[in-house]
Amino acid sequence: MDLVIASNNKHKVTEIKSILKDYFENIYSLRELGIEIEVEETGETFAENALLKARAVSNAAGMPAIADDSGISANALDGRPGVYSARYSGEPCDDERNNDKLLEELKDKTDRSAYYTASICLYLDEENIITAEGKTYGTIISERRGDKGFGYDPIFLSDDLGKTLAEVDLEEKNKISHRARALKSLMEKLEKNARFGE
Ligand code: IMP
Repeated sequence: MDLVIASNNKHKVTEIKSILKDYFENIYSLRELGIEIEVEETGETFAENALLKARAVSNAAGMPAIADDSGISANALDGRPGVYSARYSGEPCDDERNNDKLLEELKDKTDRSAYYTASICLYLDEENIITAEGKTYGTIISERRGDKGFGYDPIFLSDDLGKTLAEVDLEEKNKISHRARALKSLMEKLEKNARFGE
């Protein structure tokens, strides 16, 4: 089965490809298919936004599509920025300004605990939509550490790894990340799906 990844974020595309490469014949990015599409994320949940993106891209590409909608939630901020993680400091998405804003909002908070959520949607057709979610937990530290990863990774100290997600390589991040956990759960559901492999 062929698959297109419904994302323009090259970091997400790399992460998803590295985890799913053994399960699909060909995995394409939007760029590789020459598809230019901006899907408005009007959903109120990660799951709603993932479905909006996967459906739109599958229809545009004429093949199954997988989409990820993800973000970071700080407990002291009642789960913000959550679904607004990419645009937390305004449009266009700017990782540096987003990190600055989160650090500023947490400046006087003692509870620095946070978690990433990823909702993954695999859209085969309107009757066959498979979704899964994954989370990973950590703490927002007050200074950036590391230059790998993307987004909030330099300030997210992973409970599992004892390092920020910007200090570890992709292989290590893939062992514990919200996206990897969501994809693993999706693959387990897929393996039970009778249509897979037809
Ligand atoms: P989306 O493209 O609307 O799903 O936006 C996801 C946003 O959440 C990204 O722009 C990042 O700010 C943040 N995010 C999601 N996953 C990660 C991750 O693995 N590392 C760092 N930031 C992430």
